[in-house]
Amino acid sequence: ESVVRPGADELERAAEAALRPRHLDEFVGQKVVREQLSLVLEAAVGRGRAPDHVLLSGPPGLGKTTLAMIIAAELGTSLRVTSGPAIQHAGDLAAILSSLEEGEVLFLDEIHRLARPAEELLYVAMEDFRVDVVVGKGAGASAIPLALPPFTVVGATTRAGLLPAPLRDRFGFTGHLDFYADDELEKVLLRSAGLLGVPLAHEAAAEIASRSRGTPRIANRLLRRVRDWAQVRGDGTLSLAAARSALEVYEVDRLGLDRLDRAVLTALCTRFGGGPVGLTTLAVAVGEEPETVETVAEPFLVREGLIGRTPRGRVATADAWAHLGLDAPAPSGT
Ligand code: ATP
Repeated sequence: ESVVRPGADELERAAEAALRPRHLDEFVGQKVVREQLSLVLEAAVGRGRAPDHVLLSGPPGLGKTTLAMIIAAELGTSLRVTSGPAIQHAGDLAAILSSLEEGEVLFLDEIHRLARPAEELLYVAMEDFRVDVVVGKGAGASAIPLALPPFTVVGATTRAGLLPAPLRDRFGFTGHLDFYADDELEKVLLRSAGLLGVPLAHEAAAEIASRSRGTPRIANRLLRRVRDWAQVRGDGTLSLAAARSALEVYEVDRLGLDRLDRAVLTALCTRFGGGPVGLTTLAVAVGEEPETVETVAEPFLVREGLIGRTPRGRVATADAWAHLGLDAPAPSGT
């Protein structure tokens, strides 16, 4: 399993939790969202009321869960956590909602993956603070309205556009998280190193940051791998040399590409002359499922301007050839 992939197993999750900022002023970067959110929260605290529901959108690993926890902490309340895929039936959601205490924050991760009936129940709960509990079955069934205390939903989604408009409209505030700049990731890394009690040189932080794909989760993960290397093979200090050696062992290159990313690029350039080539053909060439190539490798390669999508298939850009150290073929017709 690659160290730069968005997913995380349980151990990784625990390591991550230890590095989470607890308050808004510890949260690095995302200046716009931070300021907007701090206004929403301060105003709500001042009024002694639960704030509007908050929707957070953005790619994995940029801090949506962290922000949800911070929101609850800033409001001085507790956080309940669930996710779209974890809610199988509308009844599951009704049970969670009806157990909420006044002012609590309900974090709904991957909210775009809620099933339709649960989504409809959520509209009503968010707007009218009410769930309709259905008793009985078939023709004899009836709905008993149950009033809920005021609470705040924090929804997280990778793309706000994935949400049906009626659900999106129930959120009074939407914050969009964007990829972090390298200097922001450096700050994240230096803060994390402090928490881990390891000495991280500034140049090493800059090196790790530049290979972290704009993502704090990846930055923290690479930091832990560099720490391992420094402990086992080095003298414990996280120097620039230690960072470079560790990242080489983990096959994370200068741009943060891992082995699969490079395999895709290499196949595209050397086997298909730079394309265009269809996704399925490309996936077969690297021995992966098309879906893996499309969802795991491609988004970052496209974002970095290494791959282009055309109606006739994927094409390598000049930067891709340069990154692999290969000569791009002369444009046809010359
Ligand atoms: P996913 O949707 O994949 O769960 P996420 O957007 O919820 O991702 P988090 O779990 O909140 O991401 O963050 C991942 C890790 O990155 C955490 O360990 C957190 O400490 C760190 N992190 C995220 N954003 C920041 C930030 N702005 N400042 C410092 N650390 C951050």
